[in-house]
Amino acid sequence: MKAPICAAALIVSVLAACVPASAVMKDNANAPAKDALECKPGEISACGLPSNVVIDMSKAKVQRTDAEWRARLSPLQYHVAREQGTEPPFRNAFWDKHDDGVYFCVGCETPLFDSTTKFDSGTGWPSFYQPIERSFVGVERDYSLGMIRDEVHCTVCGSHLGHVFDDVPRKKGRRYCINSASLRFMTRANYDAWVAANDGVKE
Ligand SMILES: [Zn+2]
Repeated sequence: MKAPICAAALIVSVLAACVPASAVMKDNANAPAKDALECKPGEISACGLPSNVVIDMSKAKVQRTDAEWRARLSPLQYHVAREQGTEPPFRNAFWDKHDDGVYFCVGCETPLFDSTTKFDSGTGWPSFYQPIERSFVGVERDYSLGMIRDEVHCTVCGSHLGHVFDDVPRKKGRRYCINSASLRFMTRANYDAWVAANDGVKE
């Protein structure tokens, strides 16, 4: 019985990987400290296997060298956003965050998701019914881990965000299951001030 149990545990853990589930933000006091997003030593592999989806970067407006990405991001942020990894469920910055505000791409600070569309999916990852702007979130079919899923990424910089599923009521939207490590958060008041300062246009 050991093998089936182990296999079942593996399947459950894999399914848990999201299957039921610039303007520098200097004023973002709510941005999680890098340390809060770090895996413990030797734990990176437990943060999820890379999906290896090929993301078309030719149209991405933000292009950085690998060294620049590594300098900009924490090891976990780099693993998730640039290597298509998955952070642990229930041990990430935003899965249980209920504050009013906007979630930005960690790679280029494009506003991607609004807290008004965030909901508790029970997966342990932040989940949203829809992006702020559909064109900012690209979708690629992902055949990794023996599953067929739809990977989602930021079209502005190519950073991996998570996956999207159609298992919520259609009138509500879709289930965008997003890694906290791919996001930064800004409160509504700071976001409104940021929009006003940028004339409402994000370049
Ligand atoms: Zn981005």
